[in-house]
Amino acid sequence: MKVLLILVDGMRPESLEGVPEAQEMMGKSACALDAVTVMPSVTLPCHMSLFHSVDPGRHGTTTNTYAPQVRPVNGLCEVLVRAGKKCAFFYNWEPLRDLSRPGSLAFSYFCSGDYLGYGPANEKVTRAAIACLKEEDVDFAFLYLGNVDDTGHRYGWMGQEYLDAVGKSWKNIAEITAALPGYTVAVTADHGGHERSHGTDLPEDLTIPILFRGDGFMPGSKIEGAGILDIAPTVARLLGVAPDREWEGKSLV
Ligand SMILES: [Zn+2]
Repeated sequence: MKVLLILVDGMRPESLEGVPEAQEMMGKSACALDAVTVMPSVTLPCHMSLFHSVDPGRHGTTTNTYAPQVRPVNGLCEVLVRAGKKCAFFYNWEPLRDLSRPGSLAFSYFCSGDYLGYGPANEKVTRAAIACLKEEDVDFAFLYLGNVDDTGHRYGWMGQEYLDAVGKSWKNIAEITAALPGYTVAVTADHGGHERSHGTDLPEDLTIPILFRGDGFMPGSKIEGAGILDIAPTVARLLGVAPDREWEGKSLV
């Protein structure tokens, strides 16, 4: 088993409605369209919670500035590398470099969305991930696409520009999943958004989609009661690795 986790920053579940690639994937996946993220609904705290399966109050990163953990919880990549698994990251927002500790990644590719523009950076990071993962034997790959969040901040959540950005991100998702048929695929978001922002406890900010496609997930089924803390335990379970004792989420398989 190999797992590819794709995260579209700021993607609200409702935005999938008019996207053919998303609808096709949902038909083949177990889906939660009412999963919840953590507070504050901000990118780095939410990612830290996804990878460490604890709330921001526990991991200590409560803004987009990384805070080294005082009582460190092992993250997904630390747990996997200790079990002999290979991990790879492909991302276009630089603060995500702190999601795993040195020594945890076999491969890492970063290009800056702030420098290139997030639209071109999404294309570039997707192509880099495909090229690497076709060539290399990786057990867990993380692909981060930043353009939807950037577009939400510029033009507003759920507006036409935002929905177009969601559609384009799903073209990237369709491309990479078609190129890498051996991977179990998870698609999610870190948080939602409203107007031109996020970070609050409004349902628009807190509700995220979680999709899993592959062995163990019934196509077209619904996952009830899921949250962002459940993703790391699920990925570990799929790879046959025990979760860290401190993780607070549950496996969805
Ligand atoms: Zn944002």
